[in-house]
Amino acid sequence: MSRDNGNPPDPGRRRLLQAGGVALGAGPMQLAAATSATAPSEAPAFASLLRKATLPLHRGARVVIVGGGWSGLTLAKYLRRFNPAFDVVLIDRQSAFVSFPVSNAWLADQVELDFLSHSFFDAANTHGYRFMSATVLGFDRESRRTFTDQGFVDYDYLVLAPGIEYDYPRIGVDDPEAQELLFHRYPGGFVTSSELLTIKRKIHRFRGGTFLLTVPSGDYRCAAAPYERACMVAAVFKRRRVRAKILLLDMNSDIVIKRAGFARAFEELYGDFIEYLPSSEISALDVESRRIETDFDEYEFDDAIIYPPVRASRLIEDAGIHNPEDPQKAPDTDPFRYHLRNDEHVYVTGDSRAQPFSKGGHTAHSEAQYVAEVIAAHALDREVAWRSPQTMCFSAVDIEPLRAMSIITYYKYDQKTGLFAFDRTHLIDRWDTQGGQASLAWAEGMYRDMFYG
Ligand SMILES: Cc1cc2nc3c(=O)[nH]c(=O)nc-3n(C[C@H](O)[C@H](O)[C@H](O)COP(=O)(O)OP(=O)(O)OC[C@H]3O[C@@H](n4cnc5c(N)ncnc54)[C@H](O)[C@@H]3O)c2cc1C
Repeated sequence: MSRDNGNPPDPGRRRLLQAGGVALGAGPMQLAAATSATAPSEAPAFASLLRKATLPLHRGARVVIVGGGWSGLTLAKYLRRFNPAFDVVLIDRQSAFVSFPVSNAWLADQVELDFLSHSFFDAANTHGYRFMSATVLGFDRESRRTFTDQGFVDYDYLVLAPGIEYDYPRIGVDDPEAQELLFHRYPGGFVTSSELLTIKRKIHRFRGGTFLLTVPSGDYRCAAAPYERACMVAAVFKRRRVRAKILLLDMNSDIVIKRAGFARAFEELYGDFIEYLPSSEISALDVESRRIETDFDEYEFDDAIIYPPVRASRLIEDAGIHNPEDPQKAPDTDPFRYHLRNDEHVYVTGDSRAQPFSKGGHTAHSEAQYVAEVIAAHALDREVAWRSPQTMCFSAVDIEPLRAMSIITYYKYDQKTGLFAFDRTHLIDRWDTQGGQASLAWAEGMYRDMFYG
């Protein structure tokens, strides 16, 4: 099972990680010793760890980026721009990029899949870096080596941008098999593109009854997206004239963003469809009998999109670089420079970051430009002044024509409290067609920047 579903690694992989010592502190000697003691049937997995990955020779300092999402793609481009001598290697386990932003509009047929899908090859060719299709298993900070299922890659700088994973135990689903079943039957649609395809099929074939959606608590990915998704699912049911009730169970005490706009949409546009239930802390879920329990109630459903709370990629915890105090297992990094507190050669960016900035593609994109500059400066023994990432988020509310709301914000650091807070926020919580068009133009501009321009 994919690590994205919040499960621990399977026993084979866990054994491989432990024996191979690819987490913090183990070196090649330990890897070799582990290999010689390995049963023949396990040898191929170890062989790929010990083999050097096939990459052309390079001269400049090498920056390895784990994760070709919004953060990694932007970093790869701007690292080359700020220092053309850098040898940049972008690694992703997926063979193509599918955008989550605008995917809710795609669920409601407002754009084609082509609009969201892009090739890593195009991005790498345009910007002059290397793309490697591989799964990163771990890294060794002493030898500065990244281990993948396609061989190892040495680095001078390592940037971890692997995104988020679901944290199913936080909704009472602890058993790994139950987690897998839940992930496959009722995916949340916030981590992999297969989840999106399953969800689209579900909502276009739903025959009626109760359709459950959940909104997680904590610092989850894209604060507005679960509410936007409820609107798009309702819009599809309305168009298809399906007799359906959308039960929107929110683990928060109220709509967390664009509150007035979403509340109005639920009432004015989808009053016959959406039942919004705040403060619904989920405590248990039975996949087989399709029942969900909150602290106060119990509900049955016919189909569902279950978005649990999230945590930083397990790669970070496995490497022992997480903050043990943090329930989301975020890394222990310098909040202004993004590198590990005790290692200026390893950085963590995007939705895996420790800072409480909105987990958004636009945030990851603007942040990555800054971090690329920080790394380029570090290589020259210089520093750049901190600057805030920018968050920009459009939310589709209605279709035919597409109508959307938006918000833009920055962040500031309060020296007294030692906390980040919102700064210069501009909210448009009335949806209109200009907002709908602007959301598509924004996404097109982002794809152009990361892949073609
Ligand atoms: C439905 C939805 C709507 C959204 N709408 C918006 C929006 O309107 N505006 C906005 O700004 N944001 C939006 N977002 C949020 C946005 O998608 C994320 O914030 C953004 O993708 C974060 O970028 P990232 O690079 O940190 O992570 P990701 O984009 O998830 O990229 C992480 C990458 O790392 C790879 N990876 C992970 N582990 C490994 C490994 N071990 N080896 C190799 N590769 C690995 C994954 O395959 C993935 O490609 C939305 C998200 C969703 C789900």
